[in-house]
Amino acid sequence: MNTLFLHCRPGFESEVCSEISEHAALLGVAGYAKAKPQTACAEFICNDAEGAAQIMGALRFKQLIFPRQWARGSFVELPESDRISVLLEYLADYPVAGSLWLEVMDSNDGKELSTFCRKFEVPLRKALVKAGRLMENGPGPRLLLTFVSGRRVFLGLADADNSAMWPMGIPRLKFPREAPSRSTLKLEEAWHHFIPREQWEQRLGDDMTGVDLGAAPGGWTYQLVRRGMLVTAIDNGPMAESLMDTGLVQHLMVDGFTWKPKQMVDWMVCDIVEKPARTASMIEEWLGDGHCREAVVNLKLPMKQRYAEVRRLLERIEEGFKARKVKVSIGCKQLYHDREEVTCHLRRLDIKPR
Ligand code: SAM
Repeated sequence: MNTLFLHCRPGFESEVCSEISEHAALLGVAGYAKAKPQTACAEFICNDAEGAAQIMGALRFKQLIFPRQWARGSFVELPESDRISVLLEYLADYPVAGSLWLEVMDSNDGKELSTFCRKFEVPLRKALVKAGRLMENGPGPRLLLTFVSGRRVFLGLADADNSAMWPMGIPRLKFPREAPSRSTLKLEEAWHHFIPREQWEQRLGDDMTGVDLGAAPGGWTYQLVRRGMLVTAIDNGPMAESLMDTGLVQHLMVDGFTWKPKQMVDWMVCDIVEKPARTASMIEEWLGDGHCREAVVNLKLPMKQRYAEVRRLLERIEEGFKARKVKVSIGCKQLYHDREEVTCHLRRLDIKPR
């Protein structure tokens, strides 16, 4: 159980290694991170058997930027046939699980294995329940079986409320046919990730106001309008007619980096592709000067040292708020729908909610 296994977007393995190594060092957990490029996963091998549990106990999964999923456990080699018996033998040392997810990596190898997993899941689930190793909806941790091949699996555990919301951290969101662009799902995913579902009515309610910087053709504006908000869409490009027809959107062809609203709005969202340092200054100004209560902003990643650079930018934003004496919560995640970027969520904590 000394290994922490982490999923990520292919190509971001070294970011995960840097991120988890930094946290482990701060927590005083000795070990080392390793990953092969483009495998969509990384491991942190702890020197002590309890190291992985210690890291998971001290961190909130939601605070991690690059990992999509995590689990503590170890790798197991499986025979060609009767894999279930072998798994049951290993699982005798594990606590009784409260749920079961079978996962693969978000890579070409992973895609090939997902058919096998779908077939394997039904008999495995039955066998686990029968053997008393799985009590669905019970208090036990989630059992996460990540297959790296048909013969090799990571037997992992994670608390359901401190790990990914979806298997492999890949959200199952349906693309709304009326939305003008696919990037609409990015904002929807951000809300799922950063805002607890039970707070949606209050924090994403109708009669609110929103600003969408870099709005065209309107995928993000569509999400704001869908929640009943009155939206100012900023972009020199054209907005989808269907959105303008709702009567809820005002389209301004001005520069998103200089325009500011006359009154504080509830939401600012920004999907402009810009140098990250410039976006960071814009975030600081919008929240720091009280132009909005909450924001979701895309931050483009630099070419090198992507984790270190993101941390540096977040620290800079944090310091800016401190200097202004305002309290702002900051979240940052590479969402499934993000490519060479991360998504930041910010919320003024010192302004009364509406
Ligand atoms: N979020 C949009 C959607 O879901 O349909 C897509 C936005 S697209 C990635 C980026 C947009 O930013 C482009 O439409 C571009 O015209 C706009 N843009 C770039 N620089 C801008 C600026 N300085 N001010 C306002 N808009 C800008």
